[in-house]
Amino acid sequence: MWNFFLDTFFTSTCFHCGELCDQKVLCAPCTELLELLPLEGRCPICFETYANHPPHCSASGAFLRSASAFSDIGPAATLIRALSRPGAPFLADSLAGYLVLQWSKLGWNMPDGVVAFTEKKSDLLLARAVARILAQPLLIFSSKIHWSTARAFRAVEGKTLLMVMGAHHLKEMRKCALELADYHPAAIEALTLVQ
Ligand SMILES: [Zn+2]
Ligand SMILES: [Zn+2]
Repeated sequence: MWNFFLDTFFTSTCFHCGELCDQKVLCAPCTELLELLPLEGRCPICFETYANHPPHCSASGAFLRSASAFSDIGPAATLIRALSRPGAPFLADSLAGYLVLQWSKLGWNMPDGVVAFTEKKSDLLLARAVARILAQPLLIFSSKIHWSTARAFRAVEGKTLLMVMGAHHLKEMRKCALELADYHPAAIEALTLVQ
């Protein structure tokens, strides 16, 4: 009976494979699958592998460079979907840790601000958590910019901005970068959880 209660209260199911486990999010085998993408053999602008890369980078010109922490399969892809569940903020903090780890491996300079786009709740949660870890201001970009936000964006002229998103969609990222370009930042970098 006591074991039944222990099992009920102290085990949960893995977000990815659904197996019972004693971890809060992923079981041990699924956690091992969370490996940061290697940086070697990839375009420094769009992060595509050279094997799949066109002769001219389709992302050049819109923003300085982009990179991702994980590929869009496996536990990372599951976790990005789980971010929109209730009680997700604790998950955003863990995932932001991986993003910052990849960011430090990339050797990018400290941004002057982290930009969140409000179209997707998961993007906002991730950007907020990354801004907190890097101790940089969070700039929330929405199609209806409030006057106080507009003032914050006017201050980004000549600064380096880091856009944080869940998924690496070049078309969407280019659109966002073009909107940010109106405020004349010196550079725009994009970091996404999955590629
Ligand atoms: Zn699992
Ligand atoms: Zn490229």
